[in-house]
Amino acid sequence: MALIVQKYGGTSVGSVERIQTVAQRIQKTAQKGNQVVVVVSAMGKTTDTLVKLASEISPDPCRREMDMLLSTGEQVSIALMSMALQQLGQPAISLTGAQVGIVTEAEHSRARILSIKPHRIQRHLDRGEVVVVAGFQGISNGTELEITTLGRGGSDTSAVAIAASLKASCCEIYTDVPGILTTDPRLVRDAQLMDEITCDEMLELASLGAKVLHPRAVEIARNYGIPLVVRSSWSEAPGTRVLSPIPKPRSLEGLELTKAVDGVEFDRDQAKVALLRVPDRPGVAARLFGEIAHQQVDVDLIIQSIHEGNSNDIAFTVVKNVLTKAEAVAEAIAPALRNSLTNSNEAEVMVEKGAAKIAIAGAGMIGRPGIAAKMFKTLADAQINIEMIATSEVKVSCVIAQQDGDRAIDALCNAFDVQLSTVPVAPKTVEVSPPVRGVALDSQQAQIALLHVKDKPGMAASIFGVLADNNISVDTIIQSQRCRIIDGIPTRDIAFTVAQGDLQAAQTALETLSEGFSQVIVDTDIAKVSIVGAGMVGQPGIAAKFFEALAKDKINIKMIATSEIKISCVVAKEEGIKALKAVHQAFELAKRG
Ligand code: ADP
Ligand code: ASP
Ligand code: MG
Repeated sequence: MALIVQKYGGTSVGSVERIQTVAQRIQKTAQKGNQVVVVVSAMGKTTDTLVKLASEISPDPCRREMDMLLSTGEQVSIALMSMALQQLGQPAISLTGAQVGIVTEAEHSRARILSIKPHRIQRHLDRGEVVVVAGFQGISNGTELEITTLGRGGSDTSAVAIAASLKASCCEIYTDVPGILTTDPRLVRDAQLMDEITCDEMLELASLGAKVLHPRAVEIARNYGIPLVVRSSWSEAPGTRVLSPIPKPRSLEGLELTKAVDGVEFDRDQAKVALLRVPDRPGVAARLFGEIAHQQVDVDLIIQSIHEGNSNDIAFTVVKNVLTKAEAVAEAIAPALRNSLTNSNEAEVMVEKGAAKIAIAGAGMIGRPGIAAKMFKTLADAQINIEMIATSEVKVSCVIAQQDGDRAIDALCNAFDVQLSTVPVAPKTVEVSPPVRGVALDSQQAQIALLHVKDKPGMAASIFGVLADNNISVDTIIQSQRCRIIDGIPTRDIAFTVAQGDLQAAQTALETLSEGFSQVIVDTDIAKVSIVGAGMVGQPGIAAKFFEALAKDKINIKMIATSEIKISCVVAKEEGIKALKAVHQAFELAKRG
């Protein structure tokens, strides 16, 4: 006999008929001798409808009242599902988040789960009942017992958290697609189903716009080693397995508040090449990285920063022993990128041999902007300047000067109370095929650029610190490579993206910073297209192929940001879907079954 947690999403319980069909499926699982806990979402588009109702009354409704309102959606479905099961002769009971003791922090509309009291669920299971639990909601840990919600899409997180606390043998997420596909099938018709995907890859995809799973659900599965499957509610097909590494034993207390950072990683052997003031037109990145790939040079981090006066800066890091080759490629291409042969200011190549990369890694930093901010602050306090920043869901990497390495390691290990971890050797020849597993589009982002930020330790710390204090997550952080002297002080520009919903709050928060930069520029006309795959580590040519696909369709790249297992490009919003399709095709993702 196994204990199985099944979660059914909104579409799967979108009508009485669907609830009845799903109930039959649940009964079948129970009749095979399994104990079954079911987590359900609100019916169909109920949550959206409730959000709209609220917006008709207030443009900025109080978050507590929003939680009170939105949590009702799930309460309707648990009652109906339980009735449907009982009607089939299957003993069942519906329970709210509060009734099963899903205790969360008191942060309305985005609460993290602190603990779940499994006794009541277990008691009902032992009586042979199916327990139907309301997803997305919990109860706060204070004395007031406030109803909280976990954030949109959060029922996945409820399900995996319940599976962890009951030590269930698996958690099955039932939805309206056959599993996890190479991209959103609503946008790209020939997206293909994957049999399996690693948690790290899924974390990135989910956070970059693949809403098939809530990223925090993947985080819990990864931390507790919960076997997780995404399947269709309408078929018996096996769906997609999300693979977790073998986890370190963890307490179930502070379930979603586990230690954010597992280790500090350091790579002394980096060099940085930057191409300053290259023309802002489609094809430039493709040309540069195409030639670099042709020379079999593997690039690690790539950034392309905001442009000023129709020119961009592109910078990338390589391991030191291929620097000469990489520099030669950049020098060879530079003249062709100059408009006039006399202006040597254009397409200037800048090389830094003594660079190092330091990173903090851990699944617990997802959705917690304070962690990256703390890293920047720690480096600033140690008087270390940050030259490049690369963020991913499970890692924040900073390029710094090599001579600062030891101090940076000490400071970060102290600040996060962790050890220096040995960096896993990149799988060079192992066939982690294919290198790109999936692509995602996020059209809900906005770009914020801060101009003329003083180039001194502590600026990133104060900017991202004030955003973190306001609980605003940022992504795709980029510092310009060119330095401008304003009033005798060197300055750089810093750009990053935030969720459109957080834009207003981000602008207000930035206004509280009285000095440090001269201007804030906001661009909401953007879409972010990303490729994700653990197999791209140590493989030359992946970035080049991505940029070439965009260039071929004449799509201009506004920003480039990478981490080890993802590359994101920001493009104009109206070109988002076209870019997604082009990239999906370029990596031949439609061909795999
Ligand atoms: P549920 O209500 O079951 O939680 P969601 O609407 O939250 O369902 O998530 C499922 C949807 O996610 C699919 O209908 C699909 O349009 C979208 N989606 C986006 N990216 C992907 C992807 N890579 N694979 C599968 N579905 C995806
Ligand atoms: N009903 C909630 C939402 O629509 C939670 C969920 O479905 O996961 O966001
Ligand atoms: Mg969902």
